[in-house]
Amino acid sequence: MHASQAMNTVTVISSISDWVKLRKQFDAKKTIGFVPTMGNLHQGHQSLCEKARQENDLTIISIFVNPTQFNNRDDFTNYPKSFDKDIALANKVGINYILAPNYTDLYADNYAYKITETDLSCLMEGQHRPGHFAGVLTVVMKLFMLVRPTKAYFGEKDWQQMQLIKNMTKAFHCDLDIVSCPTIRDKNGLALSSRNSRLSEEQYQVAINFPKLLASNKTPAEIKQLLEQAGMAVDYIEEFAERRFGAVKIGQIRLIDNVEMKQCLLQF
Ligand code: AMP
Repeated sequence: MHASQAMNTVTVISSISDWVKLRKQFDAKKTIGFVPTMGNLHQGHQSLCEKARQENDLTIISIFVNPTQFNNRDDFTNYPKSFDKDIALANKVGINYILAPNYTDLYADNYAYKITETDLSCLMEGQHRPGHFAGVLTVVMKLFMLVRPTKAYFGEKDWQQMQLIKNMTKAFHCDLDIVSCPTIRDKNGLALSSRNSRLSEEQYQVAINFPKLLASNKTPAEIKQLLEQAGMAVDYIEEFAERRFGAVKIGQIRLIDNVEMKQCLLQF
């Protein structure tokens, strides 16, 4: 594939220098909606893309499986990829550009420079995945510098990530809005995630207990016990900022989710 190749309406650009040239030609009056992703797009990503499309003149997504945010090599290697399907979804939604850089271009410094946060990033996901948020914040800042969006869209499914990105844009006086988008779930309540495609049918039946228990009227300790009884290994169940957060593992597949505390009234 060439560095820049038009497919139907969406244009895929993998060369950063091509992208920088193109970005300079954008009409400054046009608003730009940006959705950073790691690909293997599903309806969760689609909802962000649709919102970005509705609210802006141009919509850009990035597809980059960012190695610096993976603290587990196998998780990085096994991260599902479906580039052709992703292009089809981008076309369906009416995305204008897919920026799909490679590591060497995006990390020309080989990750010598990184953005670290020393407060919220130490809790929950940060505590259980050392280095994860430094990788996330660094790649998002690189992408913001390249895309220079008017608004960037993030899912509440990764609430801690979204909050850290909001705080980062304030800390660095970035001139853009961060838009938070609700979690999209399947018919059994499981939050859509690229990693769900790695669950076997049996593992899926175990996984659907996770959102139900997380949103139950039980204590975090009780939820942890019930999740373990259902066949999951629990990294954490914690309450923070009026929300309840959880991370579990089913075999090698790690899932996260969070719900507003006011929704935690359901009987399990
Ligand atoms: P990812 O490709 O997993 O890095 O996700 C890209 C963006 O999509 C992030 O802002 C995620 O929070 C968001 N996202 C992923 N899954 C969902 C979902 N089920 N509902 C809403 N947003 C999601």
